[in-house]
Amino acid sequence: MDFEHSAASRRLQESLWTFMTERVIPAEPVYEEQSRTAPRGPVPVMEELKAEARRRGLWNLFLADSNLGAGLGTLDYAPLAEIMGRSPLAPEATNCAAPDTGNMEILAAFGTDEQKQRWLRPLLDGEIRSCFAMTEPDVASSDPTNLQARIERRHNELVLNGRKWWITGAADPRCRVCLFLGLSDPGADPHSRHSLVLVPMDAPGVRVVRTLPVFGFHEGHGHCELAFEDVRVPASNLLGAPGEGFAIAQARLGPGRIHHCMRAVGMAERALELMCRRARQRHAFGRPLADQGVIRDWIAEARIRIEQARLLTLKAAWAMDVYGPRAARTEISAIKVVAAELATWVIDRAIQVHGGAGLCGDFPLAAMYAHARTLHLVDGADEVHRMVIARHELARTAPS
Ligand SMILES: Cc1cc2nc3c(=O)[nH]c(=O)nc-3n(C[C@H](O)[C@H](O)[C@H](O)COP(=O)(O)OP(=O)(O)OC[C@H]3O[C@@H](n4cnc5c(N)ncnc54)[C@H](O)[C@@H]3O)c2cc1C
Repeated sequence: MDFEHSAASRRLQESLWTFMTERVIPAEPVYEEQSRTAPRGPVPVMEELKAEARRRGLWNLFLADSNLGAGLGTLDYAPLAEIMGRSPLAPEATNCAAPDTGNMEILAAFGTDEQKQRWLRPLLDGEIRSCFAMTEPDVASSDPTNLQARIERRHNELVLNGRKWWITGAADPRCRVCLFLGLSDPGADPHSRHSLVLVPMDAPGVRVVRTLPVFGFHEGHGHCELAFEDVRVPASNLLGAPGEGFAIAQARLGPGRIHHCMRAVGMAERALELMCRRARQRHAFGRPLADQGVIRDWIAEARIRIEQARLLTLKAAWAMDVYGPRAARTEISAIKVVAAELATWVIDRAIQVHGGAGLCGDFPLAAMYAHARTLHLVDGADEVHRMVIARHELARTAPS
């Protein structure tokens, strides 16, 4: 195993770090204020950050195809995702935010020339945004074979009906396209029953029913419940072949999970920094909190857990690059569990060290915790990833 990063990755890490400290972190309170006063439109400071990121060559860093993005492998992108994880603004500022990242990867790999021209190009330029609609309120979507929103072919059109929810970014006015995963052939094998269709968000019959807050926080532009009522799109909006929906969705999740996990490591690093700073500044019972054994124990434990999670994630990234996503399946499931646990654990302790201050908006910790908690569910609940690991482990052991 070799976790050494290439010169290109190291150069980008340095440049991204400078951008974060000079521009992104100082913009956080401004973003907060501007999104309160203009909650639906583009936030001016974010548009400034995007222009600046582009100027500095910090744009579409996640794309492994050098014609479209930075051309880095997963292992080389991992430290960049970690740096971005330190601020909720960084992924969008650099056009490296989910769900656009996964959607761009899908369009690049499976889109027709026409689909790429209409949707991929403006996504790459950060002019529009996109969403990915899989989860449904009426069925346990952890098991995607349950999905029942329908795709029916009528002549040269596809007709879509159903409900989706928790669809990230769908309420953003710049969200112009939805990648809709639906049941297209109920009689086929369970993993070939679903297809993926590109749906313009302004197509008649698409409706944002409501946005769903996470612990009261409206992250980004909202996670939405969406209704699809007799939505008609041309048959040419199908992504890939009929019945390939799952296979394509799976391809999207491998690198995306590594990005999520490295951002979680970055979040944990920032929480640890905040914890240490507060513990040194604040005095109780005649000495700094940092002199209390229990607080030192949390700090040490946080460092140990961060190092463990980072190493495991880098191993998963290395295995993805060398052997491909199928071979790295166990590692990818393992890091998804470990990184969510790491982030919630460290942020929770950092909140505790801050006392009441940790729970209010004066520090970023409460919002970070809300986001970190979602990582136990998004892109597969912890229990589902543990099931995958156990299944693999049991299959390796012959019954005696
Ligand atoms: C903030 C946020 C953003 C999201 N963004 C998107 C998005 O953009 N697009 C999208 O399509 N979805 C999105 N989701 C949805 C997310 O992917 C689902 O919530 C997740 O896949 C779980 O599906 P479910 O909610 O239907 O839970 P269910 O399938 O109902 O499962 C509920 C619980 O059952 C347990 N469980 C399930 N299977 C097993 C098992 N095999 N063994 C043991 N226990 C099990 C787990 O504890 C699980 O949490 C988002 C969710 C959140 C919270």
